[in-house]
Amino acid sequence: MTLSERDQQVIWHPYTQMQTAPAPVGIVRGEGALLFDEEDNSYIDATSSWWVNIHGHAHPHIAKQLAAQATELQHCIFAGYTHSPAVNLAERLLPILPGKQQRVFYSDNGSTAVEVALKMCIQYWHNKGEKRTKILAFSNSYHGDTFGAMSVSSRSVFTRVFDDFLFDVHFIDTPTKENIAALKATIDTLNPADIAAFIFEPLIQGAGGMLMYEAGVFDELLQHCRQHQIMLIADEIMTGFGRTGRNFATENVSSPPDIICLSKGLTGGSIALGITTCTSEIYEAFLSDSKLKTLFHGHSFTANPLACVIALASLDLFLLPSCTEQRVRVETKHRQFSQQLYKMEKVKNVRIQGTIIAFEIITDTEDSYTNQLADYLSRFFREKRIMLRPLGNTLYIMPPYCITDEQLDTVYKSIVDCVEGL
Ligand SMILES: *Cc1c(COP(=O)(O)O)cnc(C)c1O
Repeated sequence: MTLSERDQQVIWHPYTQMQTAPAPVGIVRGEGALLFDEEDNSYIDATSSWWVNIHGHAHPHIAKQLAAQATELQHCIFAGYTHSPAVNLAERLLPILPGKQQRVFYSDNGSTAVEVALKMCIQYWHNKGEKRTKILAFSNSYHGDTFGAMSVSSRSVFTRVFDDFLFDVHFIDTPTKENIAALKATIDTLNPADIAAFIFEPLIQGAGGMLMYEAGVFDELLQHCRQHQIMLIADEIMTGFGRTGRNFATENVSSPPDIICLSKGLTGGSIALGITTCTSEIYEAFLSDSKLKTLFHGHSFTANPLACVIALASLDLFLLPSCTEQRVRVETKHRQFSQQLYKMEKVKNVRIQGTIIAFEIITDTEDSYTNQLADYLSRFFREKRIMLRPLGNTLYIMPPYCITDEQLDTVYKSIVDCVEGL
């Protein structure tokens, strides 16, 4: 039996309608932007294995550091004990983050990093004796799949079944020149003194459909929140580590976040790890003689040393000048390709943010995640051995930064062939 056949006997895949989905492709190894199946066919990983991979697959530097750590210390309880991978990572990461991030709280993935951020904010106000209990978020937002993270995510097909179990959140539209005054007025009428925090995906909303918005008006909105002492939580889980061009997307605004959530690119996309950072102002609100002011949160694998060492190795690669060059090159290629897309009749809303290019394919039905075209597109690209996973009729490319020009050209050409064939 092939890997794919064995899988179908025992596995339940994420975000997959198991009855209608085609059999999964068995992957046995990876190298650079390529993944190889059981027959050694190569696939171009054009969406970085769900947006996580930045330096390519099975990177030797990451592998070497991981192997060395594995013979030293694999795991250890992180309450009452500590270890150098966790401390080194915090020491190296905090100074390069936007704002005055002074503490690292470790967790397991993006969703848990968001849960921690929400708990930090809610309890920050509680510990200070102020009653601020509302959360502000963007429409079309996506912050993860656990219940807190789902609550601050826009209500959608992803959350529908669970909506009655989610806490209330105020959703506002992403800012534009036209609506910014109205957005500020909305915040004022909501009674800002009740709002504990504003959580946002800076500059680009990923799962919501790769929707992009301008840094200038965004900054204006953040400043308005700051005037009302609303805590700013930057969910940089997708945008962090160079995805949008700059190292972190919130480098594009002058109002720094109080809290930053990181995961995905944090480990170069090779292992799960979540980080929530915060300012000393937040951290200090938890210091007390009273145990009741403790942040009661933790996971069995908090600050796993293997994961921390991988994140350190990924950071080595990320800080090399060549990593910036790769990102600039990918963006330049995307801009050239966009010229071709603009001319295509069935394509609209072409947009670019750093290494991400996205657009909608025009269909007879509404633009949405459940648009029927998605299945066709997935199959088309799979047959071409290109990993592209559309969000409904939204197609996007988000490659590892190490993807070659030739590989990018292959992806572009397959997209042109696909759209022209519709
Ligand atoms: C992927 C993602 C998450 C959730 O991360 P997981 O590791 O999948 O739990 C949260 N926020 C954003 C912006 C993401 O893209």
